[in-house]
Amino acid sequence: MHDEALRALPKVELHCHLELTARHALLKELLAAKGRRIDDAQFRKEFLITEPVGDLPTLLNIFLGHRDLLDSPEVVERMTYECCEDMSANGVRLLELRYAPSFLCDAHQGLSPDAMHMAILRGIARAERDFPIAVGLIALLQRIKTVEENRYWLDFAIEKKADFLAVDLADNELAYGPATFTPLFERAKSEGFAVTIHAGEAEGPQAAQNIRDSIEMLHADRIGHGVRIMEDPEVLEFVRERGTVLELCPTSNWLSGVCPTRESHPFRKIMEAGIRTTVNTDDPGIMNISIMDEYRLLRDAMGFTAEEFKQINVWGREACFIPEDRKAAVWP
Ligand SMILES: [Zn+2]
Repeated sequence: MHDEALRALPKVELHCHLELTARHALLKELLAAKGRRIDDAQFRKEFLITEPVGDLPTLLNIFLGHRDLLDSPEVVERMTYECCEDMSANGVRLLELRYAPSFLCDAHQGLSPDAMHMAILRGIARAERDFPIAVGLIALLQRIKTVEENRYWLDFAIEKKADFLAVDLADNELAYGPATFTPLFERAKSEGFAVTIHAGEAEGPQAAQNIRDSIEMLHADRIGHGVRIMEDPEVLEFVRERGTVLELCPTSNWLSGVCPTRESHPFRKIMEAGIRTTVNTDDPGIMNISIMDEYRLLRDAMGFTAEEFKQINVWGREACFIPEDRKAAVWP
């Protein structure tokens, strides 16, 4: 499939962290406004992750560097709009963006989470007017926060139920297993939210089991990553039988050390084991990729065909939490 046909293929993007999508031009502008001149080499070092990062503190610092620049509703609105614009230019018709209100607002005490949220909604509304794209939001809870803190942010999402499709849980899955968060996700489900959970991403014997536990204990409708699924045949069979969709993010998985090269990502193995797989970017701004880069990787390194790409997007469309009428409006 040539690049242009690949770009035109209607796509679904299910796993993208809004806070980490800022275009490089936007970040550089924000730095300049703070009086910081930065050359390309320094920008790369401070703001991008383009090689596997061995230690967590370095990775976290880069995340925080992005977040700290997002210091006004205007900036957040622009970032949201530009993210949707870039996705649409690459053929994405259905886009789910997730963000953690706790993460976005922690650094900016003077900013109201409500104002930031409204800015995101404005960015989405403008993009939906300008491009053939339907965009939905997911509220992300953080494992590193206490259950009490997360309850606060779940209440925030419930208050804005009309704006959020689903609730997610992210951060270190090995240190903070699913069991602690069961009451929160029981509540999220009873409030009518869909659920997707980051699981089966970290290196460790528990990771694959976390996929199953997230489905059984946290009612996950989809799994964020789940790339470690091949490490446990019983979990593989469980997920295959249920038809649970995995939100795979090849470049991100390589950068976090799941596979030694991007090309050796187990995407095809997982799909051929009978699992419903989808292609996603995770953190396109910070990882310096677009959704097209991920499709090119699958085409060039793993031999994916047009038929296979279509199949992946059929699964993606079915698993997408955006209501059917909104899907049909942009993708008849
Ligand atoms: Zn993620």
